[in-house]
Amino acid sequence: MTADETPLSSTPTTTTASTSSVNGTDTLSTNNTDTTTEMPWNVKTILSTLPTRYPSTPPSSPLPFFHLIERLKTTPRAGWRRFKIENGESISDHMYRMSILTMLAPSTLSSRLNIPRCTKMALIHDMAESLVGDITPVDGVPKPEKSRREAETMDYICDTLLGKWNGGMNGKEIREIWQEYEDSRTLEAVFVHDVDKMELILQMVEYERVNEGKVELGEFTWVAGRIVLPEMKQWAKEVMQERLKMWQAWGKEPRWENDTKPKEE
Ligand code: ZN
Repeated sequence: MTADETPLSSTPTTTTASTSSVNGTDTLSTNNTDTTTEMPWNVKTILSTLPTRYPSTPPSSPLPFFHLIERLKTTPRAGWRRFKIENGESISDHMYRMSILTMLAPSTLSSRLNIPRCTKMALIHDMAESLVGDITPVDGVPKPEKSRREAETMDYICDTLLGKWNGGMNGKEIREIWQEYEDSRTLEAVFVHDVDKMELILQMVEYERVNEGKVELGEFTWVAGRIVLPEMKQWAKEVMQERLKMWQAWGKEPRWENDTKPKEE
């Protein structure tokens, strides 16, 4: 995930979710692999806890990298688990749907965007989670430290694991695209941040629907209110309207943060 940090990944008793003003999307954190809270976090220490042996100098094969990113398939986005949602999505589940969303950008956006770069960005943006894992406010890790860990992980992936493969070309590209997302200064990066939020609110409504009103995830609706581009705001609005109709059919009133409740028709 990105360096975005929100109180949403803290304990369920936290009530300050909507007051967070992070520039962020990745509300859901993942499994905590940082079990060494007494020691300064570093890639080497984390790698030493894993069943796979990872190289400390650039290997001639990309296989260690392939093995590392398996962790994106097997690490759940843990934010949902606070709501007793079992078998929830993994990090790569989230990135997969994001990448599809980028391909379906409305033409008013796609005409101004390098879409293949956006698709790659969606597939890469949370790659550091493969080692950084869950960082929530209750863990007491400040955002700069979270960013440092993610950058260190991406350096390891791109400079070491992929440092030699194809002359380091692929690693360099992945590192650049990841950094572009982090910096969020290009239209592509702004768009992918919006897509990140969009993917989350889709998942929120889907988990509510499958639980037929017994799980209420309105805590996450604030994310819809943080979307930037008008076209993406429109998508989010449609999701919020879906949500409204769904809860109306159940005869219940869910939580809405930051004026995200659609006006009744
Ligand atoms: Zn994400």
